[in-house]
Amino acid sequence: MKKSPLFSLAVFILLLAIGLLISVTFGGNTVSTYRFDRSRAYTDVEMQLSFGPRTPGSQAHQKTINYILEQAQNAGWQVELHQTQRMGHPITNVIAKRPNPNMKQIIIGAHFDSRFYSDQDSNPANYNQPVPGANDGASGVAVLLELSRSLPPNLPCEIWLVFFDAEDQGNIPGWDWILGSRAFVEEIPINPAAVVIVDMIGDADLNIYLERNSNPQLASQIWETARNLGYEQYFIPQYKYSILDDHTPFLEKGYPAVDVIDFDYPYWHTTQDTLDKVSAESLGIVGETIHAWLTTYD
Ligand SMILES: [Zn+2]
Repeated sequence: MKKSPLFSLAVFILLLAIGLLISVTFGGNTVSTYRFDRSRAYTDVEMQLSFGPRTPGSQAHQKTINYILEQAQNAGWQVELHQTQRMGHPITNVIAKRPNPNMKQIIIGAHFDSRFYSDQDSNPANYNQPVPGANDGASGVAVLLELSRSLPPNLPCEIWLVFFDAEDQGNIPGWDWILGSRAFVEEIPINPAAVVIVDMIGDADLNIYLERNSNPQLASQIWETARNLGYEQYFIPQYKYSILDDHTPFLEKGYPAVDVIDFDYPYWHTTQDTLDKVSAESLGIVGETIHAWLTTYD
């Protein structure tokens, strides 16, 4: 019997169909139906910016604490304030928990303060202005808040979303970097299996490189998750910067921690770190990646 071209085409289509069926059925963790609500997260950024710069001690700073509390409580999380002081300054970290005793603890963190001074501004006249912090501050908070609304309640781990105070005041007399996360690690009993910090992840031009101090295994899990979602152009699997950030105190205590940060941001610590630099799509890319990593964590 001579194979007709039509017959081999039919066989080809049949094989293709079977292949597609198999990949849809068994490629479970690459096929995700979840979509991070980008516009709701963007609204969280807008809301924080509407309060004004969230510099420690300001009204905008207190309003942000209240907003985080209210949003996370409405989403059904158990919320606590960790209030302490460092270098004579009051510190308030906001902790949203989903208690799940005897399960592995996972901490997702972001800082909510904005910097007192725009000391990287190209115009020295702006050095004394606070940083608006649309990307540096508000974007990470927005991703955590949208995760609080959308994470399934029955995950087999104990998730803490921690909103850190006083991350961004280093190189200012009487202050230092990462005061809030240091105080948290020193004073709150924890034993996290993984810590993921998100910072400056709202840039419309999103390039998140591997950060050199981060735990390599944990980082590769997250970058791999992003790749499976089709986000490899944003989560670039190459090392670039070494960053001091809220992951540092956790690493110093021996906990696996990773900093998800896009440090290629020309508006860093300038008065130009404004709402128009942040894109809802970037919040979505990072939010979906963290969501997918958490929901497949074992
Ligand atoms: Zn900063």
